[in-house]
Amino acid sequence: MTVQCCVCKKTKVNGEWRLAPPVRDARISHTYCPACLVESVALLAVERATLVAAKQHRVGAHA
Ligand SMILES: [Zn+2]
Repeated sequence: MTVQCCVCKKTKVNGEWRLAPPVRDARISHTYCPACLVESVALLAVERATLVAAKQHRVGAHA
């Protein structure tokens, strides 16, 4: 089975993430490579903080 990063499209080959030509494997497992995982977690943290801040703002406005 091929493991491919859903963000940068790199594929995992022998434990290494490489930028390979488009894979025609029907059994592709999409995941994040370490670099994109860190980026996505950071983005999610920002998004979550924004949501929490917006929620707190709404609660404050209605109180
Ligand atoms: Zn990636």
